[in-house]
Amino acid sequence: MTHAVESVAYDVVVIGAGPVGENVADRARAAGLSTAIVESELIGGECSYWACMPSKALLRPVVARADARRVPGLAAAVQGPLDTAAVLAHRDTYASHWKDDGQVAWLEGIGADIFRGRGRLTGPKAVTVTAPDGTEHRLTARHAVAVCTGSRAVVPDLPGMESARPWTSREATSAKEVPGRLVVVGGGVVGVEMATVWGALGAEVTMLVRGKGLLPRMEPFAGELVAEALTEAGADIRTGVSATSVERPEPEGPVTVGLDNGERIEADEILFATGRAPRTDDLGLETVGLKPGSWLTVDDSCQVEGVPWLYAVGDVNHRALLTHQGKYQARIAGAAIAARAQGVPLLETDRWGAHAATADHAAVPQVVFTDPEAASVGLTLAEAERAGHRVRAVDHDLAAVAGSGLYADGYRGRARMIVDLDREILLGVTFVGPGIGELLHSATIAVAGEVPLDRLWHAVPAYPTISEIWLRLLETYRGN
Ligand SMILES: Cc1cc2nc3c(=O)[nH]c(=O)nc-3n(C[C@H](O)[C@H](O)[C@H](O)COP(=O)(O)OP(=O)(O)OC[C@H]3O[C@@H](n4cnc5c(N)ncnc54)[C@H](O)[C@@H]3O)c2cc1C
Repeated sequence: MTHAVESVAYDVVVIGAGPVGENVADRARAAGLSTAIVESELIGGECSYWACMPSKALLRPVVARADARRVPGLAAAVQGPLDTAAVLAHRDTYASHWKDDGQVAWLEGIGADIFRGRGRLTGPKAVTVTAPDGTEHRLTARHAVAVCTGSRAVVPDLPGMESARPWTSREATSAKEVPGRLVVVGGGVVGVEMATVWGALGAEVTMLVRGKGLLPRMEPFAGELVAEALTEAGADIRTGVSATSVERPEPEGPVTVGLDNGERIEADEILFATGRAPRTDDLGLETVGLKPGSWLTVDDSCQVEGVPWLYAVGDVNHRALLTHQGKYQARIAGAAIAARAQGVPLLETDRWGAHAATADHAAVPQVVFTDPEAASVGLTLAEAERAGHRVRAVDHDLAAVAGSGLYADGYRGRARMIVDLDREILLGVTFVGPGIGELLHSATIAVAGEVPLDRLWHAVPAYPTISEIWLRLLETYRGN
């Protein structure tokens, strides 16, 4: 039954309390705007419970053990198996045991009003929240509605899918048991990270990849080095194949996947890591002239094209599906909403350029937490060439610096920087190797800051650290 019990006006209404919605609310509140935030599941969103947090908690012991096994004097002490129960318990802690009390307290602390339930637009600046018990709250936004509803996993519509009960990223990050055999469909970030985790915990992993290799959005050598390591760890990686059917005849029995080359593979679980779709299908977009189920196209202040009071922030705008990038957009959208609410022209108010998410175009950093790690910022060589830049790719073996040899015996890794030859700045950097995730921010600073290479030459890396790769890259570029 539906009860219409309340209608309340706020300056800002945020739909979706993932990391991005929380940060929009924080910025709006900091600017003195009254703010309501609506959440249909757990406050904290995908990132906290089924994505970044649990996946990285699962990967940390796997990667730490692999690193330790490459250190003489330590290797012998870490040859044993991982303590699966402890790894899963650590993951459970990082996922806050799928309870959101901590994040509720944080939101209450900033003075945002929380509405539990599904939020839907019902017209310009109007949002109806339907709570699980059917109660409705009607919210009106004086200045802005921010859609921060994120994305969900896409699974292909294959014959047999319903009875096969496949894993998506949610099950892969929250599973309570290690499957004996796991098929991973997809060779992107989620696919390689989950293959790394479950393989290290004892699953026999088969990866099915439609394209030529893993991590297709990075420089080709990233996927090659990660594939090499996964194969050495026991994974069977099959490229150029597609799953065409799945079946699980007995609910508790194995699942069989059919391939387009006629082969069939039996496993205990099958993970589809085959992309993301926007959570906009049941959002009332049609009531404001937009298409349900679509990604929401925005300008650099995250304002939806053609709808000045509507903002779309985070995964849902499809600019960069990463928590840190969504939170960056949230800071910008929050500042833009506040400036417009106060009638202040955006460009005149802030020398930080804080009303335009320019880094989304030029300097998105990403770390893939596999063994080896793969990290990149900015453009790949292919992307830079497609964009029409006159560029040179400068490559170097990461094993060539003293820091990497100390980090791991038999260190394997590679670095590439993409130089814009007209401006002599960097357009992109990629590192692949153990322990390079923490190196990425140096590259992000160089790319976002458009630091001229003749200045970068004076940023002296400490000896003996892996960062000395910067010196080798610059020497290679200078030709000495
Ligand atoms: C396995 C995996 C690992 C990842 N690892 C990383 C990582 O290491 N680093 C990184 O930067 N990124 C990572 N990501 C990406 C990251 O999870 C997302 O970019 C991030 O969660 C996006 O935040 P968001 O707030 O836009 O959306 P979400 O986190 O998806 O939050 C959206 C919220 O909106 C709510 N919602 C949706 N519709 C409605 C509605 N109609 N009414 C009310 N509430 C609604 C949802 O319930 C949800 O709580 C990973 C993703 C996956 C799948």
